[in-house]
Amino acid sequence: MFNVDLTGKTGLVMGVTNQRSIAWQIARPLADAGARLAFSYQGDRLRPTLEKLTGDLEAPLLATCDVTDDADLDALFDTIRTEFGRLDFVVHAVAYAPTETFANPFSQTSREDWRTAMDVSAYSLVAVANRAAPLMEEGGSIVTLSYLAAERVVPHYNMMGVAKAALEASTRFLAYDLGPRGIRVNALSAGPLRTVAARSIAGFGDMYGEAGKLSMLKRNITGEEVGRMGFALLTDLAGGVTGETVHVDAGFHAIGMFLGQDDGEGGDAPADGSAA
Ligand code: NAP
Repeated sequence: MFNVDLTGKTGLVMGVTNQRSIAWQIARPLADAGARLAFSYQGDRLRPTLEKLTGDLEAPLLATCDVTDDADLDALFDTIRTEFGRLDFVVHAVAYAPTETFANPFSQTSREDWRTAMDVSAYSLVAVANRAAPLMEEGGSIVTLSYLAAERVVPHYNMMGVAKAALEASTRFLAYDLGPRGIRVNALSAGPLRTVAARSIAGFGDMYGEAGKLSMLKRNITGEEVGRMGFALLTDLAGGVTGETVHVDAGFHAIGMFLGQDDGEGGDAPADGSAA
């Protein structure tokens, strides 16, 4: 019943830099289930890595696309229309904010850095969904990647947190727009993972360590866990889910307070239920 066969389905995966990329963690199970995939990458330097990574996939399509460039986006979707003729799902795992926005206080964010982060990390989802939808004549599914800093303050995340908030709101509006056409749009909010993008965040090592120690499961998540949830959201496994932000963070997002050295034994409330 849960054996998903994606033979004959096609997908676009945006944002693979190397085997640690979240986009790759989602792409791998999609390809294993039989889907044919297109991969878009920014700049030629990534092509050799992608060629190597996708070497054993069924006729992968590789195409450059800087998501801030409308002509690049148009060319990408023209190629997909020509090569695939249709599209069933999109993985949007693209984000960028200038390094100084992570290092400096949020109040010092410049207009230019705000625009850049919003353009790459939030508007690009709208631009992609608008071009993907006409190719999803039989319905489809779009997944984007978010982070907890969309909802609450995470030190250093700053401008990217604001961009992720816009991304999650865009997910809901896109889901509303495209729902009547059978297209689902969801955000997957992942806990910290050691990727190239993560390395540009000042203090990421500390964030990673704390998330592992303090989460409900008392460990960090794995890329495979994010990949499996991405797979579910993109396929009929999550057929009734749209406009949603799904957390894969070992329960970290749902904790309202951290008490000193939390021993994970179920909290410090008095056994008799008194408020003392
Ligand atoms: P990653 O492997 O570095 O992937 C980020 C991708 O975004 C890279 O392929 C990068 O290409 C691409 N990109 C940046 N600017 C672009 C542009 N203008 N046009 C096209 N592509 C562009 O890191 P990742 O952690 O897997 O990130 C994927 C997504 O997951 C991001 O949205 C990130 O915010 C999100 N996320 C990550 C974590 C984490 O802890 N790692 C947690 C939650 C959410 P280049 O390599 O060419 O710059």
